[in-house]
Amino acid sequence: MLDAEIVIVGAGFSGLGMAIQLKQHGNESFVVLEQAAEVGGTWRDNAYPGCACDIPSMLYSFSFERGSGWTRTYPRQPELLEYLKTVAEKRGLLSHIRFNARLDEARFDEETSTWRVRIADGAMLTCRFLISAMGPLSKPKFPDVPGIDRFAGESFHSARWRHHVDLRGKNVVVIGTGASAIQFVPQIAPQAGKLTILQRTPPWIIPRGDAEVGPLRRALRRWAPGYAWLVRKLVYWSQEVRAIGFVVNPKLLEAREKLIRRYIERSVTDPDLRRKVTPEYRAGCKRILISDDYYPAIQRENVELVTTPLAEIREHSVVDANGREYPADVVIYGTGFKATEGIVPARVYGRGGAELSEKWRDGMSAYLGTTVAGYPNLFFLIGPNTGLGHNSMIFMMEAQYRYILSALDEVKRRGATSVEVKPEVQAHFNERLQAKMKGTVWATGCSSWYQDANGKNVSLWPGFTFAYRRLTAR
Ligand code: NAP
Repeated sequence: MLDAEIVIVGAGFSGLGMAIQLKQHGNESFVVLEQAAEVGGTWRDNAYPGCACDIPSMLYSFSFERGSGWTRTYPRQPELLEYLKTVAEKRGLLSHIRFNARLDEARFDEETSTWRVRIADGAMLTCRFLISAMGPLSKPKFPDVPGIDRFAGESFHSARWRHHVDLRGKNVVVIGTGASAIQFVPQIAPQAGKLTILQRTPPWIIPRGDAEVGPLRRALRRWAPGYAWLVRKLVYWSQEVRAIGFVVNPKLLEAREKLIRRYIERSVTDPDLRRKVTPEYRAGCKRILISDDYYPAIQRENVELVTTPLAEIREHSVVDANGREYPADVVIYGTGFKATEGIVPARVYGRGGAELSEKWRDGMSAYLGTTVAGYPNLFFLIGPNTGLGHNSMIFMMEAQYRYILSALDEVKRRGATSVEVKPEVQAHFNERLQAKMKGTVWATGCSSWYQDANGKNVSLWPGFTFAYRRLTAR
């Protein structure tokens, strides 16, 4: 006896979109499990000051629920969270969602071709299909540094911001200079007494050019759908052309680097600081960041950028590898996520009781980032090698929705009880994918969260997004 035909795990962007698509497809037999008390996923958890998306709002929204009220070119976290909450309510998803229900274990029963799903409070659910929408960037990562637990002041990760901590006049130490840190540093720099930033690798940063969307443009988007559609297409293609340098010929990025170096020269006056913030790896190997206020922030009198590696954390200070000690009342970790662990944060047992994270110990892999041999009726949203360095993830998710829906239809059409990728098909797909990866900018010698412990890029799609859409068309 099934509790629901489908269980979706996660009510973030990808899970909510999947639920809408099922409903549009006439399928109401689904339950969404959400570990938190509200929807939103990454846009609920990342509430740090200055948090925003670096893909324009006209593209960073569902094509079937575009939202016409976006107030800025680049949507800020509160507006994105509001969008997701509104969409969930408007589309009647709330009655399908079980909040405070963290997936603990999922086990495939070969006799009945069903998944037995256990929630952390012990409750059990039986379903035919399981769709994981857990998001790779959900598990915060902390540096592996001695003394981290000894720190006596306030400390927190950017994805778990403690808004009650008053930073005014305090000695604040920030560790990391990734996408999150360059957004919150300009916000907290004016408050802190002294702000010390520990940088391990400088990011490539280009101007952001964010702007308010005026009432006239908002009205046009609302009342002239053709105009909104055209803008969305233009934004999509302006992002997509960037893939040429990333996946076809990384040497093309040299010209871009020259332009960015000139931007750094114009933006950073002190030659020593300029040297520190100028990257030495190929632009794009790590995500290219966008900001207009990071360089001004790090040139404030009360801000110091330290490039000596972090060595230790003591009760009231942070110490670098030269033994220099930086007094700290607050330490903020902008140190990113355990991306290669985030996709399966629970135990998932497939055929023969094989546990998925065990199977993936030497590297995650799937077919089209969506299905895994030995795990029938299980689908991943934003699974292995579906991430992007150049365009909107919503586009990839929507390709996956279509793919999953057509698989479900096919099962029904054939009167089957399960669907599963053949191991040799999955292996062949991944051989080709990794061969293609070798020619991309992500294989030009930097280290990043895209790679797993063995240095294999298991996160990104090494091609154009329209190619992925074509491959998932049937
Ligand atoms: P991240 O890009 O992984 O950056 C982590 C930072 O911490 C890096 O600068 C890293 O240095 C540094 N770090 C890690 N361990 C360290 C140590 N022991 N000592 C010193 N520095 C250390 O994480 P994130 O900034 O949270 O961003 C993660 C991803 O989330 C982004 O790539 C993006 O996909 C997404 N994101 C998007 C937005 C947006 O849309 N605007 C905003 C935030 C996040 P290394 O570079 O040397 O490893």
